[in-house]
Amino acid sequence: MEAFKGLLVLLNEPLIQFFLWVAVLYVIASIFVDRRISFWISTIGATYFWTKSQDPLVALRAWLIVLAVFTLILLLRYVFHLNVILFLKGKKRCPMCCEEAYRKAKVCPHCHYSFASEGEECRG
Ligand SMILES: [Zn+2]
Repeated sequence: MEAFKGLLVLLNEPLIQFFLWVAVLYVIASIFVDRRISFWISTIGATYFWTKSQDPLVALRAWLIVLAVFTLILLLRYVFHLNVILFLKGKKRCPMCCEEAYRKAKVCPHCHYSFASEGEECRG
């Protein structure tokens, strides 16, 4: 019951409602068009309708959060050479064939390249 109340409090938060609208629009749009176009339809559509009827500052805050997350991911990727998505999957890229392999693998399962040292990554 406590978890349910917590969920209701979260759903009353305008920022969460905005992201939910983006998600709902994305799901609906992805039925008809491909993922990239659905992304643009949902983000632009949600922002447009939100700023017409609700507090525009909420949409602005939401986009600042998204921008901050993207900046962090790009910073980690290009400054610290850490691919967050691969890291979360527990994988690395083979420097030879650029396929994904488990981070602890000694030999690439795709091309049988043997990983000499840690941190050896495909930069392509
Ligand atoms: Zn390989």
